[in-house]
Amino acid sequence: MENCLFCKIAAGEIPANKVYEDEKVLVFHDIDPQAPTHLLAIPKEHVESCGAITPENSAIVAYLFEVIAKVTAQMGIRDFRVVSNCGATAGQSVFHLHFHVLAGRDMTWPPG
Ligand code: AMP
Ligand code: ZN
Repeated sequence: MENCLFCKIAAGEIPANKVYEDEKVLVFHDIDPQAPTHLLAIPKEHVESCGAITPENSAIVAYLFEVIAKVTAQMGIRDFRVVSNCGATAGQSVFHLHFHVLAGRDMTWPPG
């Protein structure tokens, strides 16, 4: 999708600090980390948010979680939090589906 930051990162048009990439998904370090490890896991296909998941595109979500499990294990991360902000009020600032993977510090609950 035009003018989508994460589509541009997925296409290699904007650089990112990548930790995993295949034909369907990309995992890279967040530019403004909120924990010692803060990764973003995205589908390469443009999906606006968790609110735009349908029977047609939901398989990519399961696959993203497979990749998150694999990547965190490879990095030696046992405990982590996965977050997806859906909509501006919930804190979404990039309108391309992504899962934050946060690790390396104690997490509080409920989140802010
Ligand atoms: P959200 O606010 O939940 O939509 O998450 C968007 C995330 O993208 C934020 O945590 C930003 O720090 C992160 N971000 C924005 N631009 C970049 C970039 N160029 N490379 C890596 N992460 C980015
Ligand atoms: Zn996009």
